[in-house]
Amino acid sequence: MTATATDRVFNFSAGPGVLPEEVLKQVQEDVWNIAGSGVGIMEHSHRADTYDRVLHEAFQDCRKVGGIPDDYEILFMSGGASMQNALIPANLLPDGATADYLVTGYWADKSAKECKFYGKPHLAFDGKATNYDHIPQQSEIKYSEKPAYVHYTSNNTIMGTQFHYVPTAPAGVPLVCDMCSDIYSEPLDIRKFSLIYAGAQKNLGPAGTTLVILKKELLEKAPRPLPMTLSYKAFAENESRPNTPPVFAIYVVGLVFKWILKQGGLAAVAQRNKSKAKIIYDVIDSTGFYKGHAREDSRSLMNISFHTTSPELDKAFIAEALKEGMDNLKGHRSIGGMRASTYNAMPVEGCEALAQFMKEFERRHG
Ligand SMILES: *Cc1c(COP(=O)(O)O)cnc(C)c1O
Repeated sequence: MTATATDRVFNFSAGPGVLPEEVLKQVQEDVWNIAGSGVGIMEHSHRADTYDRVLHEAFQDCRKVGGIPDDYEILFMSGGASMQNALIPANLLPDGATADYLVTGYWADKSAKECKFYGKPHLAFDGKATNYDHIPQQSEIKYSEKPAYVHYTSNNTIMGTQFHYVPTAPAGVPLVCDMCSDIYSEPLDIRKFSLIYAGAQKNLGPAGTTLVILKKELLEKAPRPLPMTLSYKAFAENESRPNTPPVFAIYVVGLVFKWILKQGGLAAVAQRNKSKAKIIYDVIDSTGFYKGHAREDSRSLMNISFHTTSPELDKAFIAEALKEGMDNLKGHRSIGGMRASTYNAMPVEGCEALAQFMKEFERRHG
């Protein structure tokens, strides 16, 4: 086994995904006794000094990493990205109004469906006909007359496609983005967005919290009264702790922000992610044995979905890779084959090992 710590394998899971080893080691210590307090991170009150410090540093480092200005609010919520699919229309969509959705994959489709509880989703793009194998050009997007917001998914975790540009919404219309699987994987121009969100478990930390970054002006615009647990405003007014927050998950996300800063920030991380993905795409492109799901111009740098010449060989690939210390390569059931997730914390050595294995597997079975 060639992973950096001897008893760990290269984990290509799509989510919950790999975390930086440095972070995990810090977590091991802090679970026992954080910052000399004599109490572990999971045992501290969410209103006491230790957690105050953890939370405030997480907010601060989140701003530093993403270049988030003061007129944006940062929230740590619960309920996953799926909860946001409901909270976005609840907080932004007047009864019966229309919101536009770019449906580029499985999750984007789910987002659009949840909108129906409050209003009408208009599919400004729908990639279903080609099984979501590509990202639309701006000219293929057909907005409705006056949408309350535009929602899209920057990286399609299952299909392995990714927007390599930020679509333009109609003038004055808030742009909302599900960034679950590529948040903080490359520099972010937050000014182009009114709201972004991401469940932590892909690229930011463990499952249990969802990062939401939104323009403060939106907090005053909720079109209906909302229960405290569903209200962005209630979370903003109470530092994301109107009730007990997922303390542990937020703490780990805070450590991941520090890790990103130590890596040199998003520009450096993006550079690494690009070369990591290239190592694997180069093998796919060098042969007819492997085929990627995504159209070439739409390829994701985070999730690489591909298959061999038959489902039987795909199965053998996954089993043999596991023996070589590479786990969780099985593709999502909706498209089959393999999926290698190469999130920020996947070391370049993992991608090299996979590329090497792909070549050997082809030699034996191709
Ligand atoms: C994983 C994922 C989701 C769903 O996240 P949950 O936290 O399980 O609700 C939504 N959107 C995208 C793009 C994802 O990758």
